[in-house]
Amino acid sequence: MLMKPQLDLVPKAAWKAHGPLLIAGPCSAETPAQFRATLTPLAELKPDFVRAGIWKPRTRPNSFEGVGVDALAWSVEISRELGLPLAVEVASGKHVEAALKAGVSLLWVGARTTVNPFMVQDIADAVQGVNNPMLVKNPVNPDLELWIGAIERLNKAGIRKLGAIHRGFSGYEKSIFRNHPNWEIPIELKRLLPDMLLIADPSHISGNRLLVPETAQVALDLDFDGLMIETHCDPENAWSDARQQITPASLGELLQNLIYRRPQTDDVVFNARLEALRRDIDGVDAALLDLLAKRLALTSEVGAVKKDNDITILQPERWAEIVESRLQKSGSLGMDPTFVTRLLQLLHQESINTQVKMFQEARLNASKTAE
Ligand code: PEP
Ligand code: MN
Repeated sequence: MLMKPQLDLVPKAAWKAHGPLLIAGPCSAETPAQFRATLTPLAELKPDFVRAGIWKPRTRPNSFEGVGVDALAWSVEISRELGLPLAVEVASGKHVEAALKAGVSLLWVGARTTVNPFMVQDIADAVQGVNNPMLVKNPVNPDLELWIGAIERLNKAGIRKLGAIHRGFSGYEKSIFRNHPNWEIPIELKRLLPDMLLIADPSHISGNRLLVPETAQVALDLDFDGLMIETHCDPENAWSDARQQITPASLGELLQNLIYRRPQTDDVVFNARLEALRRDIDGVDAALLDLLAKRLALTSEVGAVKKDNDITILQPERWAEIVESRLQKSGSLGMDPTFVTRLLQLLHQESINTQVKMFQEARLNASKTAE
C-alpha cells in the first residue's frame, strides 16, 4: 500500500466553488476558423477553461502532429476574445516557456509525458516561480506511483494549484474503451490525496463519441470534481481524435442530461438505511476475513505436507478443478465469472507465494544444518 504523499496544495474550492469543473475544446487547435467556430458556441456553456492541443503526441509519424508554436498566438487571442481561459498540453520545458509567454492560463501534462520522469522534471524546472494552475494526466500504463511522482515533481517546483486528470490506461487486450478506465486507480489516488482536484477525461477513455456521455456520468457518480471533454465544430473532419470528439451542441445536451448526484444528504431515513446496510457489510467483511485467514492456514498446511513429501507446489489439475467448480457454484449464485476468476487467481497466487517461501526457508535451514 502506498504512503500518503505530502503535498502543499491550494484547497479544491480555489478551482471552483460549486459544480463540476468543465474543460472543453478541440483535441487540436487546427486553424483560427476551426477554433473560433468551436469556441463561440462553447462559450455559452461557460466552461471553466477551453482546451487546445498545440503539440500533439501521436502514436505513428506522418500523422498531424499539431500546428505547433504558431498556433499559440491565435489560440490565446480567440479564447481571450470570448473570455475563456486557455488550457494547453505541454510535454517539455520549451513548451512551457512558449505557452506561458503567449499567455496560456492552464498547463497540463499529457499521458505520454507523465510516464517519463526526465520530461516531467524538465517541465517542473520550467515552472519554478510560476503561479499558473496545472493538471497531470495519468501515465498510459496503470502505475499510480508514476502518476503521483509527476504530481510531486510539480508541487516541489512550487505549483500549488495542482490537480489530476484520469484518461484511462492503454492495454493490449481489445475493449470497448480506447483506454481502460480502471476506476480503482483514480479512486486510490483520491484516497491518498482527498484534497486534490481530480477530473476525468471521458473522451480519451472512450475513444468513441457514443460512449462519452455514459463515461462522464460514471465519473460524476464516482465523485470526480470535473470533466475534460473534447469538443469540435466538425468532429468527423477533425485532424486528430475524430471518433471521440463531440460538437458544442452535443456537449450542451450531455451536460443537461447528466445527473448531478449529491455526495451526502441530511435525510434521516436514507441515512439510517445506509447505516444499516453498511453494518451488514462490515459483518460480512469480518466473516470473510476470518474465512480467508482459515483458508491461508490450510494452504500453509498443504505446503508443509508437500514439502515433507517433495511434491511440487503447482498442481495444475487441482487448480483447474478449483476454477471449474468455483465458477460453476458462483455462476449459480449469479456472480460475474471475470470477478470470480480474478479473485481465485489472487487467492491461488497467495497460497503459491506462501508455499514458495516455506520451501525456500526449509532449503535454507537444511543448508545451515549441513554446514
Ligand atoms: C489529448 O488530451 O489530446 C491527449 C493527447 O491526451 P492523452 O495525453 O490523454 O493521450
Ligand atoms: Mn485528443
